[in-house]
Amino acid sequence: MKEIDKIKQARPVAPEQTQADAPDAALRPQKLEDFVGQEGVRANLRVFVDAAKARGEALDHVLFHGPPGLGKTTLAQIVARELGVGFRATSGPVIQRAGDLAALLTNLQPRDVLFIDEIHRLNPAVEEILYPAMEDFQLDLIIGEGPAARSVRIDLERFTLVGATTRSGLITTPLRERFGIPLRLDFYTPKELQSIVARGAGLLGASFTTEGAAEVARRSRGTPRVAGRLLRRVRDFAAVAGGTEVDAKAADLALNRLGVDKLGLDMMDRRYLGVIADNYNGGPVGVETLAAALSEQRDTIEEVIEPFLIQQGLLQRTPRGRMLADGGWRHLGRPVPKRDTAQLELLAAAEGLEP
Ligand code: ADP
Repeated sequence: MKEIDKIKQARPVAPEQTQADAPDAALRPQKLEDFVGQEGVRANLRVFVDAAKARGEALDHVLFHGPPGLGKTTLAQIVARELGVGFRATSGPVIQRAGDLAALLTNLQPRDVLFIDEIHRLNPAVEEILYPAMEDFQLDLIIGEGPAARSVRIDLERFTLVGATTRSGLITTPLRERFGIPLRLDFYTPKELQSIVARGAGLLGASFTTEGAAEVARRSRGTPRVAGRLLRRVRDFAAVAGGTEVDAKAADLALNRLGVDKLGLDMMDRRYLGVIADNYNGGPVGVETLAAALSEQRDTIEEVIEPFLIQQGLLQRTPRGRMLADGGWRHLGRPVPKRDTAQLELLAAAEGLEP
């Protein structure tokens, strides 16, 4: 396993799927009505699904994009179930050759849903044969090699491709344009997460007070997958502690033991902020320097640690390196220091930059 994947697996607040999430299936909502949050996305899907069903046609191709753990896979499954059709799932990096995709496509029944996770990671040769499949429900394959090679055209059943990506910027334009229904998922509000936690507790047969569920929700980084994982861990702690009901205090105790603080930061996040504060006076400091100081790899810092800190307003990426934002100082329990002109200019410049 790559270093970055090991780190993702080990964090209690990782938004990606980890081995600890194996029992997750029990918490997956099965119907559009049970799916909490993402109001706009749900309303749109409701209309398109009902219309496709009424016409007896395959639903147009759907592209979900948004950060990991927000429910893209879950929604894809719900769409298939609501349409009353079969569901096949795969992911971009798994489909290595055109033949792999051909095998998947030729096995679909009429109107089935084919889900391709991480669709931005499709190999270009595979992507090429996906275009006519999506548009005309035809496969153009080259069979054999050299002078004996010939091309064959295969007609496919009409199907729905549901693609999911965490990096919509990496999707090629021709692929993006072939999705009739692009939908963006956003982080959940604490209120939405609270009802996800309460529902999950019910499904797990665990007893949480409203405040207990709210405490878990607030510390779940806007992400249902994190909420589900923290819910299970908190329940386990409470069970060992012998309590009957998990209230705010029990949840707080358990989450502190897990190293997950009030904002949902874990040890790694706080260590990162602490190093910028202590060693670099709040920055700016280059990511390579930080990587060396923390003994972490640069991609771990950029992909795993920084996005949430930036989204929470604790950190800023400036043209000359990372700087603690006011929120970052406050979160560490320190006064915001007086900044010199150079620092102030950098912070002002960062406001206009894409995180
Ligand atoms: P993604 O594909 O975006 O990474 P998933 O669909 O695999 O995310 O969802 C991650 C976990 O979060 C699943 O266990 C799922 O049950 C749960 N989940 C996601 N969205 C919701 C929601 N709106 N309500 C309840 N649970 C959810």
